[in-house]
Amino acid sequence: MNCRHNKELEYFVTEAKKVTDKGKVASYIPALAELSEDDLSAAVYFTDGTCISAGDVEKAFTLQSISKVLSLALVLIDHGPEKVFHYVGQEPTGDPFNSIIKLETVNPGKPLNPMINAGALVVTSMIKGETNADKIGRLLDFIKKLANNRSITVCGKVAESEFETSMVNRAMCYYMKEHGIFQAEVEDVMDVYTKQCAIEMNSLDLAKIGSVFALNGKHPETGEQIIPKDIARICKTFMVTCGMYNASGEFAIKIGIPAKSGVSGGIMGLSPYRFGIGIFGPSLDEKGNSIAGIRLLELLSANYSLSIF
Ligand code: GLU
Repeated sequence: MNCRHNKELEYFVTEAKKVTDKGKVASYIPALAELSEDDLSAAVYFTDGTCISAGDVEKAFTLQSISKVLSLALVLIDHGPEKVFHYVGQEPTGDPFNSIIKLETVNPGKPLNPMINAGALVVTSMIKGETNADKIGRLLDFIKKLANNRSITVCGKVAESEFETSMVNRAMCYYMKEHGIFQAEVEDVMDVYTKQCAIEMNSLDLAKIGSVFALNGKHPETGEQIIPKDIARICKTFMVTCGMYNASGEFAIKIGIPAKSGVSGGIMGLSPYRFGIGIFGPSLDEKGNSIAGIRLLELLSANYSLSIF
């Protein structure tokens, strides 16, 4: 992709990098512990097809929770909102992404929203396909279309590392299965889910996917309406209410754009009609968001008046 290195963006990246040592890389998925703490890169893909970048934007990372927005879009296209929201709610939780508590205390078995792990696992269980390979293949094809990049793949090492260690996610699956939220085999859902989280791309790809949401589902390069407008709207709304874990409220006040983060340190954000932004900074704050990524967005939002509110 033709993306120009930009001095102004580089300045903000250098400023934001100063906070990387206040965070930590995720280590509960063993393969993620190998990421280097002081990395920070950003790409901004404008809806007119121009692109600017700063830092090592070719470096690949896994999507982790960012994939939750994309699997949600696919499943909403496949089944429609009514069916999907029968199984997963639409309310923020205020709890950490992998919390199990509200599964038991509120509306037993039905997760509160699709951006927390419990909700995302339900969404993954709804991806259409005969086999696990068909399901992950369909999601991957959809993501390749969004990034307009055929070379995006699943990182086998990260997928395997999470599959072998992800016991809390399994526990949530069994709890939901007990309550009839899904019928699928837990190990099959975990197989597809861990591969979905391990889909790997770089900040440029992520910025481009953000720009598709900025244009309400229409691809700025190909002109194709990949996500129907009403579904893109639902996804963006979840990004605002639940996209930055249990820091989403503060993020909405301080930065004010739809965004979704993942524990590998990625953030996908967008400014409606203007651009998508992809950030990679693996050092995380205590809520699980890229610490320097948030700082960078704070600087950009203040300097370019990005808040939608
Ligand atoms: N694969 C991760 C998990 O389920 C995703 C978490 C995240 O990025 O928030 O724990």
